[in-house]
Amino acid sequence: MAEYRYLEIETFDDEAITRILMNRPESRNAQNRGLLVELGQAFERAEADDQVRVVILGGAGPLFSSGHDLGSKEAMAERQPGPDQHPTMRINGATRKGLENRMLQEWHYFFQNTLRWRNLRKITIGQAQGPVYAAGLMLLWACDLIVAADNARFADVVGTRLGMCGLEYFGHPWEFGPRKAKELLLTGDSIDAEEAYHLGMVSKIFPTEELSDRTLEFARRIAALPTITALLIKESVNQSVDNMGFYNALQTCFNMHQMNHSHWAEIHDDRRAGAKPEDGVPPWREAPPVVPAVKNLVRSPTS
Ligand code: ZN
Repeated sequence: MAEYRYLEIETFDDEAITRILMNRPESRNAQNRGLLVELGQAFERAEADDQVRVVILGGAGPLFSSGHDLGSKEAMAERQPGPDQHPTMRINGATRKGLENRMLQEWHYFFQNTLRWRNLRKITIGQAQGPVYAAGLMLLWACDLIVAADNARFADVVGTRLGMCGLEYFGHPWEFGPRKAKELLLTGDSIDAEEAYHLGMVSKIFPTEELSDRTLEFARRIAALPTITALLIKESVNQSVDNMGFYNALQTCFNMHQMNHSHWAEIHDDRRAGAKPEDGVPPWREAPPVVPAVKNLVRSPTS
């Protein structure tokens, strides 16, 4: 069994089911570079293993993943030259400057990796609990099926908090529907598991304390199907949405995301590639809490 620093891997039923758990609960499973690279390795290992039929992706602790790691000590250290610098900070565009650097790094470690996992040759199930904001959504959307704890909430706050047009992997209109995607991105408000279920994004909702066991039960049903059938069902749906424009739309929206970063970098003396308070967004750490989108209220009560 491979050694992972940020992941815990469990296998069930003679390895027919693998559960990959992000295991940085002290950082709310924020996605630092090391974690993302290990996730790629774990997914590819599960894909290569002919015993494996279903891969579950979850997060240890009270929430699935709080999104990209924007500031933990570990994440800062892996970006800076020094003994703790991550090796991928010296390749894949990281030694280039400006837009080329950011675009290539985000392409490899936020966009293309997510698309790669979406196309994994196994059935994947995202297992979500607690608030899932911003880049936490990308990991879920990469999965074929999503199951949620009854306390799960979903929001993309990068518009209201960073002045960005959405995530690098722009699944929003495909997951929420076009108009709901606009509303949620323009307000930063959240939807609960129940609404995500009605939108078709979530397949099952389980009591939080039963999430792990019930997800495994669900995975066992899927694992019982012949592997060729399961794969071709997945691929038929993926090919269908690709032909509806999913693949090309995602490429275009990734480029727009880069344009948005470049706008902020161009107008800021320190080249910061996201909006600042002077641009009309609250400081990240003092931002008001995410509130639920409620149909008859413009501003929902803070809960
Ligand atoms: Zn970005």
